[in-house]
Amino acid sequence: MPLNIPTLHRLKELRTETEVVLTFKFQSPEIAKESEPGQFVMVWNPGVDEIPISIAAATPTGEIEIAIADVGDCSHNLHQKHVGDLIGLRGPYGNGFRITGQRICMVAGWLWCSAFAIRRETSARIRHRRCGSGRRKK
Ligand SMILES: Cc1cc2nc3c(=O)[nH]c(=O)nc-3n(C[C@H](O)[C@H](O)[C@H](O)COP(=O)(O)OP(=O)(O)OC[C@H]3O[C@@H](n4cnc5c(N)ncnc54)[C@H](O)[C@@H]3O)c2cc1C
Repeated sequence: MPLNIPTLHRLKELRTETEVVLTFKFQSPEIAKESEPGQFVMVWNPGVDEIPISIAAATPTGEIEIAIADVGDCSHNLHQKHVGDLIGLRGPYGNGFRITGQRICMVAGWLWCSAFAIRRETSARIRHRRCGSGRRKK
């Protein structure tokens, strides 16, 4: 059962990925235990907006990570948050996917690469991986 009510979570860690992408880490056992690669959460920035963001990591210890690009009002405001701030989350939503077979080819662009990072066992089986996200330099 997804967590259907926007629930405030304390921001546990912030990591800079590129000049426009930050990774946000939360402790959320309810969401982590339900998450499949390809699913997303609704991120509620109180007083600003609520936006869909893919789940980039979900650990057995209940942590989840999401990577957010600074593109507009809500995402820009989220980029101003600090560790310890409260952000609402609900989910996971959407159809996830499972990895089966031995020779797997996965192609994604921009932040959709997040979905591939979610499961450690998935990444371990990927032999050739090239993943980048960020604004292309002119
Ligand atoms: C299922 C799903 C999963 C998603 N996963 C992620 C994710 O993991 N990480 C992430 O950063 N975003 C993800 N997005 C996109 C994210 O929801 C939007 O970037 C966000 O809603 C933008 O809200 P905003 O208020 O910051 O910008 P807005 O004010 O809504 O948009 C401002 C401007 O930016 C443009 N814009 C909006 N989104 C993007 C974008 N992604 N790239 C380039 N230009 C854009 C708009 O056209 C508009 O001109 C996902 C979207 C969906 C539907």
